[in-house]
Amino acid sequence: MKPDGIDITWPDIKLQNNLLQQIMKTCPKFTFGVGDRFAHGAHAQLQAFVAAKKLGVDICPTWNKSNREHEIIGSEPQSTRDAADKAVADLGWSGQYLLDADHINLGTVDRFIAPCDFFTLDVADDIGEAADPADIETFINKHSELIGSVTVEGIEAPLEISRELVEQTANQFLKATQKAKAIYDYIVAAKGGSDDFVTEVSMDETDKPQVPAEMLIILAAIADQGIPIQTIAPKFTGRFNKGVDYVGDVAQFEQEFNDDLAILSHAVKAYGLPETLKLSVHSGSDKFSIYEPIKKAITRTGAGLHIKTAGTNWLEEVIGLATAGGDALELAKEIYAKALDKKEALCEPYATVIDIDHSQLPSAEEVNDWTSEQYVSALTHDQSNPNYNANVRQLLHVGFKIAAQMGDRYLDALKANDEVISECVTHNLLERHMKPLFV
Ligand SMILES: [Zn+2]
Repeated sequence: MKPDGIDITWPDIKLQNNLLQQIMKTCPKFTFGVGDRFAHGAHAQLQAFVAAKKLGVDICPTWNKSNREHEIIGSEPQSTRDAADKAVADLGWSGQYLLDADHINLGTVDRFIAPCDFFTLDVADDIGEAADPADIETFINKHSELIGSVTVEGIEAPLEISRELVEQTANQFLKATQKAKAIYDYIVAAKGGSDDFVTEVSMDETDKPQVPAEMLIILAAIADQGIPIQTIAPKFTGRFNKGVDYVGDVAQFEQEFNDDLAILSHAVKAYGLPETLKLSVHSGSDKFSIYEPIKKAITRTGAGLHIKTAGTNWLEEVIGLATAGGDALELAKEIYAKALDKKEALCEPYATVIDIDHSQLPSAEEVNDWTSEQYVSALTHDQSNPNYNANVRQLLHVGFKIAAQMGDRYLDALKANDEVISECVTHNLLERHMKPLFV
């Protein structure tokens, strides 16, 4: 770090941020995002957290459902809150739990304000939008500590940051942080002046991963804005396709993840950001091959983690239906046939986060002949099973609209097969996600 040129604005940022943190809702160390698209799985999901707690790990359930998902299903955020509250009451869960307004912006936040206490401010669309040149100039002048050789504990070589890089990054991200602040302020005002919620800033839905120096500059800008950020979702290297494993260089991911952890703790100290600030991995569900490096990193550093796995639940419902056989299996086949028929429209909103090889999708006729076991093997994310089909899995992952359109037929099937579905949901969360990550 530069020993000279200490900037007198530092204590101000710290003071401002420390004051904000006295009133914010403190985010628990480990938060785990679960999605409950049809507001039917909260009990089974919560059972996994209960089981993890018995194993000695405190994980805070964080129900998340994005605006896009609500729109596709035609549901309201309040329904997610009601389902979560009921599960918590029924199971006597005494720990914390959170409701995440996932990927919201100023245009979509309104209906999330009352039911939610965790807000993922999505600034991806604003990245690259030009900020006022005067603001950029002010930012650069205020942050001389960012320019030069910056030593970050936990990163071997000092970061070499040029004035140009600070300027470039500010050009790229400053406007986005200003917009994040505008959303944050809007939520506080709408909540009657209270910021009794957790704030996340997400930048994962962008083209390029953020390098450590960029992360540091972004966090400085977020601190300047006075956003009491407790989780940040960067874009990591590799593909985070929906419902399937990570595709990319695991070693590089591990390096990035560790570097980001180091940057976060540096920024907490330098700018007075909340001590609870942690990384958020918008996993798109089931990124099993990066769980081990994540676990190693959080164990080594004592860092917290927020992980989103939202889409898993809906697929477990379909797996449960297929497992149950009979009418339920027929319904699962019908869902596949309809999803196949409508695949272009279903895939379109998710184009950047799926990679489906359409030649590997079985025809509806073929699937109609499947036994329960064949359907379950194709859909269950078990890479050691030769019949597992990642293409079927991704198509069904984005195919929940089909079930939504079935209305009560689908919901009644969930009720009729509650026991087997719940077993799938709990088992999946506990065995495939929580144990590898936290236990
Ligand atoms: Zn995301």
